[in-house]
Amino acid sequence: MSSRVDLSANQITLLQKSLDAKARGKIMDVPLGTPYDDHELETIARIGEEMTKEFTGPSHFKPGGWRVRFLLLDSEASNAYAYWMTSFEAICLTTAMAREIDLLCDVVAKSIVRDSKKGGGFAFLHEIDIAPEEKWAMLKGVLMQGAMAVFIGHEAGHLSAGHRPAITSSASATESEGTQAEDVLLYVDDVITAPAADEGPPPPLSLRLNAHEVDADVQGFGMTARYWQKRCDDIRAAKEFPPQATILKAACARPERLLLIASTGAAIAISLMGFKTFAADWNKQPTHPLTAVRCVVGLAALAKLLTGDEGAKSTLLLRPECMEALSVVHARLGTILRAAAKHDGKHSDLTLKLAGALNNDQRLQLMFNATGVAQAMTRSNDVVRYIAQLHAEFSACAPLRLHAIRALPNRLVEWSAVAAGETETQISGAPNSAGGQCA
Ligand SMILES: [Zn+2]
Repeated sequence: MSSRVDLSANQITLLQKSLDAKARGKIMDVPLGTPYDDHELETIARIGEEMTKEFTGPSHFKPGGWRVRFLLLDSEASNAYAYWMTSFEAICLTTAMAREIDLLCDVVAKSIVRDSKKGGGFAFLHEIDIAPEEKWAMLKGVLMQGAMAVFIGHEAGHLSAGHRPAITSSASATESEGTQAEDVLLYVDDVITAPAADEGPPPPLSLRLNAHEVDADVQGFGMTARYWQKRCDDIRAAKEFPPQATILKAACARPERLLLIASTGAAIAISLMGFKTFAADWNKQPTHPLTAVRCVVGLAALAKLLTGDEGAKSTLLLRPECMEALSVVHARLGTILRAAAKHDGKHSDLTLKLAGALNNDQRLQLMFNATGVAQAMTRSNDVVRYIAQLHAEFSACAPLRLHAIRALPNRLVEWSAVAAGETETQISGAPNSAGGQCA
């Protein structure tokens, strides 16, 4: 009898064994065609399954590879993973992450609908003649797709761009389970850096891992942009569209609206990756770049891909739509932090400052500083130089990836980095053009 995750009993046992080794959660499964009991988890699972199929399907991946599964893991730790096994690949999202996506999309959608009458990029929502409750439910659905696209896209990006040989040969990255079993774990990717262990030496810094994480983000945003363009093409081609697509149809009417909605969903996902203080070690992270850096690089890439605006290539200056999306999400994060501090009486330096702020603008500025996004933007030339360094490393590793690339020709997104006012820092996409070593 087929089960929803569509893996053999043996495959499930082996994957569960690998997951248990790191306490990453229990695989959720039900008979094929059966919904999960929990309504929120069911919604996320359906988006995850359909998106995984689309991102790793025949329009993006070469034929003949393993089918990629989407799985929910029952776990209190918030994360997403890609598991490379010998006979299958799986993109996994924990239930804790699923619930956080649901909650943040809910509060952000409510605040956007409430404030749409005040103007701004979301003012078009105010013109749509449907009840506010229906509007936020519809907008929440669109934002959930936008947030899920970042997580599924990141993991599908690692798979499509053939990262495994490049990252498994990096000494700090191997996570072998032995070679005796018939289906073994080859590699696992975490979308979020695991919190540092209290004991033991700090993990080694890996330029190579950081470079491939940036590439996974960029490939993911490439898939995200195509996802939204396809949704809009479908709406334009349809003689009739379902009423629940009303908001998406209005967004598809203008590129800047679509970018605003797509960026808001993406900003929600990025903020769930957790922010770390933007300090002197901002460009010396062990495996994943700082979330603030991934945020600025990712949204700049999304804007360029969705609007075809080459201006975004010259610097990491974000378009107004991306800034508005970040502001909406940062404002909600601030409200959630203050409410939590009030509830449990545990105030942080940040919540005390937020409580003492004179107005919303001040609170927003405090939030942008706390997440490091403000610093990543003001130091965008430094960030660009760092991205150029990562790109040189990424290019140097191209021969390792060559035979593992799963994407169809021309499906991989090239990224480059050019600092404002500098002409020769540009790194082109040609393999090995930087002449560096795959360290
Ligand atoms: Zn990753």
